[in-house]
Amino acid sequence: MNIRVKIADFSAEAYFECDEGSAECGGKEFRLPPRFSAQASTSEKIEFALRLYHLHWEKSAIEILKSLPEELACQVDIIPVGERWEGRGIPRFWLVKGGFARQSESAAWREEAVSILPAELARRMEIEGGVYRKYPSAVSRRVSLKPLNGQPFFQSSLIRLHAPLGIKFKKAPVGETFHWEHTEDLWFNGHLELRAGENGLLVINELPLEDYLASVNSSEMSAQSPLEFLKAQTIAARGTVLATMGCHHYGEPYHLCNGDHCQCFYGVSRVNEQSIEAAESTAGQVLLHNRIIADTRYAKICGGMRESFDNVWEEYNPPYLPAVFDGDAGNFRFRGWEHYVFDRPRCWCNPEIYPYPDYYDFARDLFRWREAFTFDEIGEIIRRGTGCDIGALEEIAPLNRGASGRIIRLMLQGDGGEIRINGELNVRRALSPSHLPSSCFTVEREDERIILHGAGWGHGVGMCQMGALNMALRGADCVKILKHYYPHTELVDFFG
Ligand SMILES: [Zn+2]
Ligand SMILES: [Zn+2]
Repeated sequence: MNIRVKIADFSAEAYFECDEGSAECGGKEFRLPPRFSAQASTSEKIEFALRLYHLHWEKSAIEILKSLPEELACQVDIIPVGERWEGRGIPRFWLVKGGFARQSESAAWREEAVSILPAELARRMEIEGGVYRKYPSAVSRRVSLKPLNGQPFFQSSLIRLHAPLGIKFKKAPVGETFHWEHTEDLWFNGHLELRAGENGLLVINELPLEDYLASVNSSEMSAQSPLEFLKAQTIAARGTVLATMGCHHYGEPYHLCNGDHCQCFYGVSRVNEQSIEAAESTAGQVLLHNRIIADTRYAKICGGMRESFDNVWEEYNPPYLPAVFDGDAGNFRFRGWEHYVFDRPRCWCNPEIYPYPDYYDFARDLFRWREAFTFDEIGEIIRRGTGCDIGALEEIAPLNRGASGRIIRLMLQGDGGEIRINGELNVRRALSPSHLPSSCFTVEREDERIILHGAGWGHGVGMCQMGALNMALRGADCVKILKHYYPHTELVDFFG
């Protein structure tokens, strides 16, 4: 089984290197020079938009959606998941509405739909927020390949590259929009597919699932981590890929992206013997719950309490993703979130109790963190992050917190209006030039500054990666780690 992962979608020229590489297009194959570049021709985009609302609901709710008044009528699609991959046994639906000429029009439609939908459905739409998709112009665009400092030698709308020893993608974008955003030379095995994408050149890596997983465990975490941790990480990654196949990038020409949205994937650059062993020794192993592949999500640092699935994604709370303390519950005394962000509970991801290895130095300050902004700075960040101008900021008020303290609804009040932000990721984006480490924070005002005191890194659902690593460093094996983070599951060899 092959998997297709988006590596980049950007307007820049992309540079590649390989030995004995070939390119394939329309049934023809030709040799690649050792160094070459690719660029998509640009053209005017037409202003056409489609809004997809992601809903996981039972059939009766879908009937309600179909019977909306004509001006709000929408189309409901069933995601074409294969029989084998039916995610958690729940039919998956998308509510599709479009096209809108502008994003603001689609937002207005949502407001109206939310106001007349049954309350529970409306809440779902608020949390999901929908996916806004602009379609590029119907004018066909082409990808040009050219040798370094030479003239284009090939042009097509879709080109597939392959080299037996891999292809180097020079200065590939990594961690876009997050605080670790940078460029890096990355190596890829399998095929690299080049297409004209929404923003320019779309680069997709197609490779066998198990090869992908060996890369994911060394991209998500360091390949120097203990083997038992890497095995647990691989099994979790395999489970979430299989349980959500076809859902994360519905309608796109790839299954997954290579960023935090899906799972980090940086090709084979960071793979070592141990990360390969972790993938090979667990090949095909997944956790099942009620004979269905468990969607074994994970996140970097829970901060103490783990988050529930429905506070981050859909109205569904599988028993194998409990929102509980990441350690012995007897060690946790909850005194309110104002205290929690300063407390250092005795949980598996607390670096003061279980020191992180040197190769995770960067994560030490994210168990508890602090961000300070002047009022001018935060005003500008909110304007840029939300696209709304609420004037001078007066109040940051959490409206709802999840089980881990992560804010899932936030109100920002200014002297020129107020906005409400739904969803932990949107909260993290609204108050930071990139992303806050998590949406679990409290707000302190200090003269001219706003200070956010926070806990954890990531959404906090499922396995706490730094907690799991600490368990492995202290002798826990892969099975014990998985049992701790995913109760009510059984480990099986799915392909066996
Ligand atoms: Zn993604
Ligand atoms: Zn944790």
